[in-house]
Amino acid sequence: METKDIKAFGTEAAEAPLKTLDIKRRAVQAHDVEIEILYCGICHSDLHSARNEWHGTMYPIVPGHEIVGRVTKVGDHVKNFKVGQLAGVGCMVDSCRECDHCKNDLEQYCDEGSILTFNSPDKHLGGHTFGGYSQSIVVDENYVLHISDKLDLAGVAPLLCAGITTYSPLKHWKVGPGQKVGIVGIGGLGHMGIKLAKAMGAHVVVFTTSISKFDAAKELGADEVVLSTDPAQMAKHAKSLNFILDCVSAEHNIDSYLNLLKVDGTLTLVGAPMEPLPVTSFSLLLGRRSFAGSAIGGIAETQEMLDFCAEHNITADIELIGVNEVNDAYERLLKGDIKYRFVIDMASLK
Ligand SMILES: [Zn+2]
Ligand SMILES: [Zn+2]
Repeated sequence: METKDIKAFGTEAAEAPLKTLDIKRRAVQAHDVEIEILYCGICHSDLHSARNEWHGTMYPIVPGHEIVGRVTKVGDHVKNFKVGQLAGVGCMVDSCRECDHCKNDLEQYCDEGSILTFNSPDKHLGGHTFGGYSQSIVVDENYVLHISDKLDLAGVAPLLCAGITTYSPLKHWKVGPGQKVGIVGIGGLGHMGIKLAKAMGAHVVVFTTSISKFDAAKELGADEVVLSTDPAQMAKHAKSLNFILDCVSAEHNIDSYLNLLKVDGTLTLVGAPMEPLPVTSFSLLLGRRSFAGSAIGGIAETQEMLDFCAEHNITADIELIGVNEVNDAYERLLKGDIKYRFVIDMASLK
C-alpha cells in the first residue's frame, strides 16, 4: 500500500521524553478521509500509554485521541465529507462493524475490541496505529465526526474524549430537568461533566476535596459545591441525588457517595482508579442503588454530543501549548496543575 511520510510527536521508550518522529500514514483509500490536524488535546491516557503504565504499549507510540482538523483529501466513495470541511477524530478509528454492539451504535463496546486511535493493530499498514500528536491522519469516514465552525476549535478538541466520556453516561441514565446530579472531581472529565449536566437542565452538586476549587466549580456552572472530606457537608445531601458521575482516578470512598443516592439512584464511574474499590453491600441494598461504569461513547452519540455542545456553546477550558511543551505538560498533569485540559497547537510541529 502507498504511504505518505509525515511528522509526529511521540516516544520510542517508556522512560524517554517525547520528541519529533517520522511516521507513515496510508494513502487515502476509497472510504477514507485525510485530515490535517490543527489541534490535539492531551488526555491522561496519553501519558499512561506513553509511559507504559497500563502495560502493553507498543513503541514507538504517538499518543493523542482528541483530534480536530480540516479535511485535505477524500476517497472516491466518501459521501459525508468534503475537502476544506472541519473534522474530528476521537478514541476509535475502526471496529468490526458486524457485532451487535457495532450495529447498535455502541462501537466502543465492539466484541472484537474497537481499533483505538493509537496503539491498536493497524490492519492497513501492519504495526500499530498512531494518534493525533501528528501533522495528519487518515481515517475511514464512518469514524470521522463533523465539527461546527461556531465554536473555538482548540476548545472543541477535548470534547472528542473528555466530552463524550461524560456526555454518554449522563444521557444513558437520562439526566435532565428536575434531577439533582452529583459530579465528583473537577479535572479534565469533571469540568466537562459539570458543563454538560448543567446544560441538560439538572441541578448540579459538585464534590471536591479542596476548598480552593469551590469558586472554579461555581464558575463552571455548579449549583452547589460540597467539601467531600467534611462529613457534615456530605450528610446534608444524604439520599438526595438521582445520579452521580464519578470522575476521580485516585483511590476514594465509594460508599460515602452511594449513600447520597435516592432509591434507584446510580453512581457511574468514568475515572479509572487502578486499585479495586471496596463497596459495602448495604450501601446498595438499602435503596436498590446501582454502581456502574461507562467508557467513551459510540460514533453516532459522539456526533450528537458535538452538536449538543455547538447548540449550547460548550467547549473545554484549555491551555494551548506547542509540541515542545508536551513533556512539561505531562509533569504538570501529574500534579493536577491544569485548568482543565492541555491542547497542542499542531502548527508548532515542524
Ligand atoms: Zn482520552
Ligand atoms: Zn464490533
